[in-house]
Amino acid sequence: MIKKFKKTSLIVFTMFLAACSTVPLTGRRQANLVSDAEMQQMAAQSYREFLSAPSTKVVNNSAQSRKVKEVGSNIASAVTKYLKDNGYADQTAGYQWEFNLIESKEVNAWCMPGGKVAVYTGILPITQTDAGLATVMAHEIAHAVAKHSNERYSQAMIAQGVGSLLGAAINSQTFNQLFGIGAQAGVLLPNSRKQESEADRLGLTFMAMAGYNPQSALDFWTRMAAQANGQAPPEFLSTHPSDATRISDIKKYLPEARKYYVGK
Ligand SMILES: [Zn+2]
Repeated sequence: MIKKFKKTSLIVFTMFLAACSTVPLTGRRQANLVSDAEMQQMAAQSYREFLSAPSTKVVNNSAQSRKVKEVGSNIASAVTKYLKDNGYADQTAGYQWEFNLIESKEVNAWCMPGGKVAVYTGILPITQTDAGLATVMAHEIAHAVAKHSNERYSQAMIAQGVGSLLGAAINSQTFNQLFGIGAQAGVLLPNSRKQESEADRLGLTFMAMAGYNPQSALDFWTRMAAQANGQAPPEFLSTHPSDATRISDIKKYLPEARKYYVGK
């Protein structure tokens, strides 16, 4: 009897914690178990630890690292404008954008909640151009703006049991797995197809508003798919499942994004 009562109160408590929010542009409703403030706090800590780890080589003052900061700032400005224009300004409340290039063979890039972005040099041969880099960064930033890491984190915590969710402090190891940091590829937590589709759609609009031709996204993802052929998929594809749906999604959303593209 006591056990039953405990279980019920846990469920009620969990529902109480769950905040329902709406994804910009797509209008999808989502339930996130962790508050934005908590997610951003965890991200800020994890980002600092990552940047200062002996195994992390941050690239400073190179043409490429300046390009990452330039493209990132352009996209961040576009995101802020888009959200403000569409009544979603709260979506990035508390964001303090940072854009860092990491010297690494890993093919990876990510954006943590709060606007903490990392691009690995290993992905640059695939991005190739400013618009290619903008494709990746806008896609990652779109995942953050749509709060996908909160959703994935919440799902991981539920999978580990509601009890551990309530009993344990926020788990930095699980959090890092969302971004392909410090984990074996097999245990990474991938985005769902629905989340990928949302990030593609939002990302195309953000890159177009920032002045990068959204058409370039097709070329980037085609190169990324070719890269994965015949070898273990890179970190980026482990957390961003890719399939034929992506190319058709991008083609579908291109007309919408082009309306925002003024060109450079
Ligand atoms: Zn993705």
